[in-house]
Parts: sequence; structure tokens; C-alpha cells
Amino acid sequence: MTKIRLTKLFEFEAAHALHNYDGLCRNIHGHSYKLAVTIIGEPNSDPDSPKLGMLMDFGVLKNIIKENIIDKFDHSVLLSHWEDVYFFKSDNPIFERLHMFDFQPTAENMLIHFAEIIQNLLPENIKLFSLKLNETASSFAEWYAEDQI
Ligand SMILES: [Zn+2]
Repeated sequence: MTKIRLTKLFEFEAAHALHNYDGLCRNIHGHSYKLAVTIIGEPNSDPDSPKLGMLMDFGVLKNIIKENIIDKFDHSVLLSHWEDVYFFKSDNPIFERLHMFDFQPTAENMLIHFAEIIQNLLPENIKLFSLKLNETASSFAEWYAEDQI
């Protein structure tokens, strides 16, 4: 009944703009985002399992996050639906990886979005414990499951 946390670190590059923000971040600009994903649960105790002693194979966790978060948002533009969609919805390939959200694409809101995605992808016996998203080396937001009650 010993619970263990596992964390895997990811990086992606993306641009965003904060609609109606009263500062420089209302302009489209880029970040080298760093995402830390921490899961919690009990390590596998089945002596016949090739995953004996593991909460989750790091490779499996990597693939889940890579396929559903990193590959989707890396080198993308993250904007809110309040922006002028007519400008961005062109055939111009520079907008090929444009994501229009129904929320302001702050680090805080991106974490809430990521948490919803990841929670739906984890097996029943493994829970999402926390997420940490760095926008810069000195600025980050955190999501903790225990804070959501
Ligand atoms: Zn920013």
C-alpha cells in the first residue's frame, strides 16, 4: 500500500497572446515551455509482470504525454477565441498549428486544459498528482489534484 510518485519532464515551443491583457503579453510572443507531469499510485507487485516494481513504465508515460500534449502543441500558436478569427483562419500554412481556446492561454489555463486531457488517459490505478508548467526559467504555474476538491 505504499504510494509512489513518478515525474517526467517535457519541453515544447509555442507562441501565444493574451487577449486584452494590459501589458506586453497581449502581443504574440513565444515561450520554451517546460512541463513536469507527476503521477501517483502503487508499483506493480505482480511477480509475473514485465513491469514488476513499476508504477508506470516511463516510456509509456512519455508516449501518452508526447502524443496528446507535446505533438499537438509544439510549434503551435495558442490563442483565445476572442481574437479575430477571420485573420487567423486562412489557408496560410503559418497557421497550420493554430489552437483557438475558449479560455485565455495563460500558463494557469493551459495547465487546467492539460490536466483534463491527461486524467482521461491514465489507467484506473494511476492518478495525476501534479503538473508544473514553466513559461520561463523563473515563471511557472502548478496544478495539484489535492487542491481541486
Ligand atoms: Zn507569454
